[in-house]
Amino acid sequence: MSLVWISESVMRELCTEADRAYPLETGGVLAGYVADNGEPVVRAVVGPGPEAVHNRHRFTPDHAWQCRQLDILFSESSGASTYVGDWHTHPDGLPQMSWLDRRTLRSIARHRDAGVARPLMLIGGGSIGEWDWVGHRYRGARLFGLLSESDEVETRTF
Ligand SMILES: [Zn+2]
Repeated sequence: MSLVWISESVMRELCTEADRAYPLETGGVLAGYVADNGEPVVRAVVGPGPEAVHNRHRFTPDHAWQCRQLDILFSESSGASTYVGDWHTHPDGLPQMSWLDRRTLRSIARHRDAGVARPLMLIGGGSIGEWDWVGHRYRGARLFGLLSESDEVETRTF
């Protein structure tokens, strides 16, 4: 199983925001870089944004705000931190991909102008103080229905 590296401060921010929004969904985008061995390294997190809409089983981010935050992270890191994926929570649920998550990830892989070939979708399932984070990474288009479109990746903090 491949890995995704997440800084401890990012992991804390994810859990804090997940707790804050519970029992509603929340999420945002992940910034960092893809290492030479192909493993994503997440160094910063962008939250939902002030205009985001949080529901029990769905959340719509404030996309314009997130883009501005990504621009700031890019400048502040002298271009080292760029978009690597999305994250969101499944309150009282499992950190598995829903059909909508699969559709979203496919759409990101096709349309994201950042040119991320294999975007990451990090999902936190659980409740306050007890989040289980699982990364899902886009693999490619489905072939005769045999291949799953994404691989589960193990998360490691650093
Ligand atoms: Zn989901």
